[in-house]
Amino acid sequence: MSLQAFLARRVITPEGIRPAAILVEDERIQTIVSPDQVPDGYAINDFGDAAILPGLVDSHVHINDPGRSEWEGFETATRAAAAGGYTMLVDMPLNCLPATTTVAALQAKRQAAHGKCRVDWAAWGGVVHNNQDDIEPLAAAGVPGFKCFLVNPGIDGFTMVTEQQLRSALPHVARTGLPLLVHAELPGPIDRATEALANADWTRYSTFLQSRPDEAELAAIRLLLSLCREFGFRLHIVHLSTSEALPELRAARSEGLAVSVETCPHYLHLSAETIPNGATLNKCAPPIRSRENNDKLWQALRDGTIDLVVTDHSPCPPAMKRLAEGNFQTAWGGIASLSVALPLMWTEASQRGFTLLDLAQWMSAAPARLAGCDARKGRLVAGNDADFVVFEPDREFTVSENKLHYRHPVSPYLGETLRGVVKGTYLRGNPVFTEGAFPGQPAGREYTGPVHRSPP
Ligand SMILES: [Zn+2]
Repeated sequence: MSLQAFLARRVITPEGIRPAAILVEDERIQTIVSPDQVPDGYAINDFGDAAILPGLVDSHVHINDPGRSEWEGFETATRAAAAGGYTMLVDMPLNCLPATTTVAALQAKRQAAHGKCRVDWAAWGGVVHNNQDDIEPLAAAGVPGFKCFLVNPGIDGFTMVTEQQLRSALPHVARTGLPLLVHAELPGPIDRATEALANADWTRYSTFLQSRPDEAELAAIRLLLSLCREFGFRLHIVHLSTSEALPELRAARSEGLAVSVETCPHYLHLSAETIPNGATLNKCAPPIRSRENNDKLWQALRDGTIDLVVTDHSPCPPAMKRLAEGNFQTAWGGIASLSVALPLMWTEASQRGFTLLDLAQWMSAAPARLAGCDARKGRLVAGNDADFVVFEPDREFTVSENKLHYRHPVSPYLGETLRGVVKGTYLRGNPVFTEGAFPGQPAGREYTGPVHRSPP
């Protein structure tokens, strides 16, 4: 039996921020006490002035393994996660081959992950045009929920669903009690806008932005809310970018619909006005919109309309970013940010009067609840896994390639100075990242604890 005590002046518990000692027996938190109440026999780890937050949970990452591990992979994604303070990742069902749309594909993913992960993980199942009969078997095999696209995801191996196809999948999804995560853009407004831009200059960010209008997101969200009402499934909107959908999302929540919403650090930190032409590292879908829009996303985090913040970490080989031509039409869309998401968010949030308690809610407790792993993850409370991040909120650092740790260290954030440094990350009581190093062998494993199936 191993007994450890982790002390700091700012421990982020669900009740508040206070000086405390987290007492850990083997892999679990026993209890949290005052720093002067540590019993004899505990090995002391005192982090002084630093903060200890619950290990972050990222319910939206693309690990691309198996099948496209030259893009990322379990080894590099979970290393980057550990360096960023994450202790649990939930992998999206696309970009890997096979896509996670059948139980056999889920088993292939389990084999690909075996022995490679530095943090814990789980895998969402995919809902595509023709796999309605795989939905309940995937739930029985252990996925915490499902993901689908209402627009072409632009990658082989994963299809979008039309409204009709979604309608045949929804009774199956509703029966599982698990959430359906939806990429909410409809193709109609995007196709019309793109046709009108046939002769436009695609090295300009404004061209790309016009090609993915707010209307595409808004129309998709309206459709989803009405389907949610009709079929009674748990709806989760991934990477909300348009603030125009916020009034309807607020109304849906007051109506009591089981809907939750996420956004990402890039929508909160970057804005269209400052993205240089040709800077395709900033391409993602839906797109980064105006500063005014993004301020409204912050307001929605404040009033609880947006529940959580996840990275949508979606790397690719650098050549696919078309950096030389700077063409937003042909460049791969996706922004990788696992190692810097916490400082990105703290840089913005601290200026807006938010606290580390808010970050712990958005980046740990709420995504853990979405992914159904909140019986063990997401909060510093007795009985949970001893997963946490030691964070120095008052230090600054400049983003450089050697701090990114994922397979291809490309990033729109290189050279930026950010507030807050991840000093160490602990997974089930053991260090997985300390002062720039990754001690020990990969000990992350698939989350197999209890999964909750209640509304969000
Ligand atoms: Zn994604």
